[in-house]
Amino acid sequence: MSTRVLAWIAITACTVILLCTGSVTALFGGGSGDGITAVSCYLPTASGSPAGSTSGTPPSNTSSPSAAPAGSLPRVAGWSAEQVANAAAIVTAGRYRPIPRRGWVIAVATAIQESSLHNSEGGDRDSVGLFQQRPSQGWGSPAKLQDPAYAADTFYAALDQVPGWQQLALTEAAQAVQHSAYPDAYAKHEAAATALVNALAGADPDGCFATGAWTQPVNAPVGSGFRTSGRPGHDGVDLIAPRGFTIRAASAGKVIRVRCNAIDARDGSEWGCDRDGSPELTRGCGWYVDIAHAAGIITRYCHMGRPPAVVVGAAVVAGQPIGVVGSTGHSSGPHLHFEVHTNADESTAGAINPIPFMIRNGAPLGEMN
Ligand SMILES: [Zn+2]
Repeated sequence: MSTRVLAWIAITACTVILLCTGSVTALFGGGSGDGITAVSCYLPTASGSPAGSTSGTPPSNTSSPSAAPAGSLPRVAGWSAEQVANAAAIVTAGRYRPIPRRGWVIAVATAIQESSLHNSEGGDRDSVGLFQQRPSQGWGSPAKLQDPAYAADTFYAALDQVPGWQQLALTEAAQAVQHSAYPDAYAKHEAAATALVNALAGADPDGCFATGAWTQPVNAPVGSGFRTSGRPGHDGVDLIAPRGFTIRAASAGKVIRVRCNAIDARDGSEWGCDRDGSPELTRGCGWYVDIAHAAGIITRYCHMGRPPAVVVGAAVVAGQPIGVVGSTGHSSGPHLHFEVHTNADESTAGAINPIPFMIRNGAPLGEMN
């Protein structure tokens, strides 16, 4: 093997591989600061509501917030004025309660699945209204459940009782409230619900919500932090989840990289991802996925145990399974190495500390409940 080839291997390896060592930072000379000031995203207030969300005008008649003046609502492609008005009622009820913005998306997605945002008089069995809630199950009288504001508020009340709902995938949060016979049906509406919420409530001024809310990639303890003194080149956090645990997209976006990256440190040959790596003998991220999100954010998920469940170019929604936890590449045991990058920069220079970033986006890392 020529020197040139070896040099190429070293450079390409270092650009994306040596995620758990100090050499990436050294190579790029980056790593000063974590870039927090470069990103200013949603910061939950003490009450748990999104900053600024409560400044919206509460409905003058809380029993009918959907009675907004005709023409005051935006047109949203693919939805009738009636459907948009019903989505607006759901968003207004969420603001008024208040409940964080993630809840508005969950509620609108649920109503899309249950009623296509039509405030129907009847449905399956005694189900009524936007959320197809059942009077016989204690949700309220049929007349009340046909009031979008009341129906949405009862949905939010139930959602708020679900422990850690902001960290759940949309489908899990919705299912915890609805107990549907088709729990997986909610997830497919997340993008549409996000678009409706953004159209009605305005996208986050910093773009952090332009394509969707955030969720934990795995619900697991943080075992090793970002650029600690002992591992200054550790450009992510290690989430200690068991082998085979589902890894989820942290937010909606597009898959931009799916790759096995595992190099035998002794001779630069391919180690492969069909077996576990070694902390001493293996370099690289193993099976990994990069997802590009709005506002130049990229998330990276390393050491997957099997080939990822997504392909390059695929659009994903928050909470969508993308692979399973393993120990491929430079790894001493099963875990998810999770990175967040800014400025659409996949190199170490773009990496920021995922912990404050995920807190700001309403999906703190670490084991919940
Ligand atoms: Zn790591």
